[in-house]
Amino acid sequence: NMAKAAVNAAEPAMTQDGHRIEVFANLGGGQGARDAVANGAEGCGLLRTEFLYMSRATPPGEDEQAAAYQAIADDLDGRPLVIRTLDIGGDKPASFVRFPKEDNPALGLRGVRLTLRRRDLLETQLRAILRVKSANPIQIMLPMVTSIDEVAAVREVLRSLEAGAGASRSLPLGIMVETPASAVTARALAPHVDFFSIGTNDLTQYALAMDRGNPQLAAQVDSFHPAVLNLIAMTAEAGAAHGKWVGVCGSMASHPLAAPVLAGMGVTELSATIRSVPVIKAVLRSVTMEDCRALAGTALEMESADAVRAHILSVWPHLR
Ligand code: PEP
Ligand code: MG
Repeated sequence: NMAKAAVNAAEPAMTQDGHRIEVFANLGGGQGARDAVANGAEGCGLLRTEFLYMSRATPPGEDEQAAAYQAIADDLDGRPLVIRTLDIGGDKPASFVRFPKEDNPALGLRGVRLTLRRRDLLETQLRAILRVKSANPIQIMLPMVTSIDEVAAVREVLRSLEAGAGASRSLPLGIMVETPASAVTARALAPHVDFFSIGTNDLTQYALAMDRGNPQLAAQVDSFHPAVLNLIAMTAEAGAAHGKWVGVCGSMASHPLAAPVLAGMGVTELSATIRSVPVIKAVLRSVTMEDCRALAGTALEMESADAVRAHILSVWPHLR
């Protein structure tokens, strides 16, 4: 029955008991936005802007970036677009930045840590984003946040650029929750952000202390580990308590078995790969939020990722 998903791809994903979950797509290049919409994506929950910066000797300028973001916004035809600021360093090197030699690049100068030290890169990118015209305001998302200070520092830069550009209102500024620190302190961070989007790839890597790219550990770097689920639940609760939306944009959002658990924890937006959008919508339509909530509560107490998956399949055998 999940195979018929494509038929209803354009319809929203509503649970059997009437709770809507937004299903967005992740984009990482100029080509995907039309494809995403054709597959039923209701917006873009993560634009990985690194594609503009890779394999070149100098970073893209403001005009080039503005044109690239505008083309994507146009292809999304007014649907929400979350643009992540440059996330290089760690597993995402860039040739035009001279990184210091680091013994542990995954724990090094990367994400927002890097762009706060390279204000030129940050400001050029924010200026470009501020030029994009879209029916829905563009939302800005910061990668690898660990502290309120980082959010405050970027907000200050954003505010001054907006004032300089004569903007009438400020763009929403949210963060990726992909470090254990940000999940554990989500309650403190929530008043300072407009949304949370959980990056389960890095969150799993850092919670389990297992390299996401190490083939020897691939089977164990598992987002269904109850440690990761508890970090997700803390984030979702903190967002809800402060009226901020909480999404998931890591690869867990593309996993059919994960969708009901995440929804049950209070996640209201899933940003998946383009090709998995129809099946994620179909899964959500096949369950009740009441069951999702009960299942999420149980999953948090379970002893292993395998036990969590087995439990999900026992509640919903049709997901097999
Ligand atoms: C993540 O870490 O889950 C994420 C969505 O970002 P990326 O995979 O680009 O690091
Ligand atoms: Mg990440």
